[in-house]
Amino acid sequence: MIDIEEKIRALSKGDVAVLGVPLDENSSFLRGPALAPSRIREMLRSGSANMSTELGVDLGSACGWTDLGDISLSNGSEAFDQIESGISGILERGARVLALGGDHSISYPIVKAYSRTFQGLAILHLDAHPDTYDEYEGNRLSHACPFARIMEEGRVKRLIQIGIRTMNPHQRLQAERFGITSVEMKDFSPDRLPELDGPVYLSLDMDVLDPAFAPGVSHHEPGGLTTRDVLKIIHGLPEEFVGADLVEFNPTRDTVSVTAMVAAKFYKEIVGRMLPQKP
Ligand code: MN
Ligand code: MN
Repeated sequence: MIDIEEKIRALSKGDVAVLGVPLDENSSFLRGPALAPSRIREMLRSGSANMSTELGVDLGSACGWTDLGDISLSNGSEAFDQIESGISGILERGARVLALGGDHSISYPIVKAYSRTFQGLAILHLDAHPDTYDEYEGNRLSHACPFARIMEEGRVKRLIQIGIRTMNPHQRLQAERFGITSVEMKDFSPDRLPELDGPVYLSLDMDVLDPAFAPGVSHHEPGGLTTRDVLKIIHGLPEEFVGADLVEFNPTRDTVSVTAMVAAKFYKEIVGRMLPQKP
């Protein structure tokens, strides 16, 4: 593990910092997402694609962004404290974060840190699952629960979910209780997306994609978004795009590195969009 403290101290205001968060112990079905950050970086270095984004930012030469490597983590609630304080340290420098999971449980400590820096945060959550269980198999920190914790603590102004296709009666009640805006997959149209104003935080679960596009996830849920739908959403985010996580890529389920490459592309497009736009 790299000591990232020094790298965090070197960040300047407005920088974009990528941080690996290799935690998958709160996964309910399969382990594996802890392997994702290093796999995504391997794809970026593989020489298979260049470092330019579709919107014309060349991350190969652009200043203002850095990959800090992985945060070193213990387990249990201590790991959550470490994630929260690592993210807070970056935000105190005035930088913004793309966190590479890990499973979706990491969004809770990340958003906790964000909610102290950004008032009136809106979360755009792309996922096949609402992840709003009050508890899952006895674990309130499960990857099936982060948005219940975030909403019951009033951490954000709005939660908008897109791509959902697994709502059960409990989660429908939770959506109502927390006032969540949910665009279920059956009603989704790429040309009709909810209006968003900043500051916006993007939480991108790879299983929002149809398994045809991204088989490397723990929970295959058919009937999802295309890779292009997600890219369109990233490109259309408002200017005040202050942070993101990319979670639930499970390299042990991938075939011919296709999901790794999709995750690497999202990494590039997200960092490119978070960098200050040139006039
Ligand atoms: Mn999720
Ligand atoms: Mn999911």
